[in-house]
Amino acid sequence: MRKDYVYIGVLIVCIIGVVWGIVGLLDTAYQKQEAKTISNVQEIYEKENTVTTAVEEEKVSPNASFGLKKYYDDCSHFEYEEAELPKELVNLTKQEVEDYYDDWEVEKFSSKELVLCKEINGFCNEHFLIKLDDDRVKVYRFGNSGELTEYKNTDIFKDYLPEEDVENLEEGITVYGEGKLSSVLEDFE
Ligand SMILES: [Zn+2]
Repeated sequence: MRKDYVYIGVLIVCIIGVVWGIVGLLDTAYQKQEAKTISNVQEIYEKENTVTTAVEEEKVSPNASFGLKKYYDDCSHFEYEEAELPKELVNLTKQEVEDYYDDWEVEKFSSKELVLCKEINGFCNEHFLIKLDDDRVKVYRFGNSGELTEYKNTDIFKDYLPEEDVENLEEGITVYGEGKLSSVLEDFE
C-alpha cells in the first residue's frame, strides 16, 4: 500500500515535469513568433517609408528661379546669368533635369531654385587688352581661345600721355573686367 503512494507520488512529479516542459516549449515558440511579427512590421514600415520618400521627392516648381553658371578653364572665372525657367523643366526631379541636359550639370536643386553649371575650355569674355594703335589708344577683347578682336576706340592720344604710359601702352596692358577697364582708361584721360 505504501509503495502505491510512492508510485503515485513519482507519477505526479513526472506529470508536473512534462506539463512544465510543454508550457516552456510553447512559450518559447510564442516568443519566437512574436519576434517574427515585430520584424515583419518593421519591414513593412520601412517599405512604406521608402514609398513615401519617393512620392515626396522635390520637383521644380513653375516659379523657380533659374541660373546658368559657366566655368572657364583657362582663367578660372565664373560667369553667372539668370534666365527664364524653360517650361520643359517644370515638375521634373533632380535626376530628370540631369537626364534632360547632356552638357550641363545640376549645381543647385530645390523646388524654388535651379542652377546649372558647365565647364568651358578657354577664357571668359572679360579679358581686355589696352594698346596703342599708331597714335591712339584702342581696346581689344580676348576671345574664348585667346584671339584678339577690336572692342572699342578711345579719345586718348599718344601725344598727351607721359612717356612711361606710352611705353606701357605700346607693350599693351591686360585688364580683367569691365569695371577695371573703365577705371584704367579714366586714369589716362
Ligand atoms: Zn576670365
